[in-house]
Amino acid sequence: MVRGIEMVDQDPIGKSSRSNPVTYVKAYDEIRTLYSETGFARQRGLKPSHFSFNVDGGRCEMCQGEGYVTIEMQFMADIILKCESCHGKRFKQDILEITYLDKSIADVLEMTVDDAIKFFSDDKDGKYTGLLKKIISKLQPLADVGLGYITLGQPSSTLSGGEAQRIKLATFLTKGNAAVNTLFIFDEPTTGLHFHDIRKLLDSFTALINNGNSVLVIEHNLDVIKCADGL
Ligand SMILES: [Zn+2]
Repeated sequence: MVRGIEMVDQDPIGKSSRSNPVTYVKAYDEIRTLYSETGFARQRGLKPSHFSFNVDGGRCEMCQGEGYVTIEMQFMADIILKCESCHGKRFKQDILEITYLDKSIADVLEMTVDDAIKFFSDDKDGKYTGLLKKIISKLQPLADVGLGYITLGQPSSTLSGGEAQRIKLATFLTKGNAAVNTLFIFDEPTTGLHFHDIRKLLDSFTALINNGNSVLVIEHNLDVIKCADGL
């Protein structure tokens, strides 16, 4: 029985310049919590919100956590400059000084999904096992759909339509809130994909189907078409 329909399109994952892959899959909530629970952060009384670039507190005030400033020009295209205060790092200096395994929150935002999975898999002191597992469970689907190369803090405006579509797909595969009894509709999902990424896309479709969903694909790629149960 179908309980809902999800059209997984190629529209951007967010209109704001602050939306990015790590916030969209909601892994950033646990990453902020992890940083607030490190020794120095506790000593300084820092909360998860101090590691957010969306609210005042820890973010750079000059660029309001964007990392860059836009100068509007009257007769020309706007000029985008790296923020002079944080040098593109988005946070105040005392927040950048808080590190987990020698990496600051800004370093984490610059990691690729694959590197971040490796980084958070290192559970050396065993203090944060629960948080680390949650972070990995939200990042892993991004790697599974073939997006291991994108960076966590990449502005959504720089992602291609196909990448945005696969980020949405990844959220439906996240353990714990994986969709069930849903009809998924994809319009030309292989656009711009390399051969081995098409393999990953097909594996993702299989995962959706194994969770009890149905998948309807509008596609002209023969490798995808031959895997269909019905044409
Ligand atoms: Zn700044």
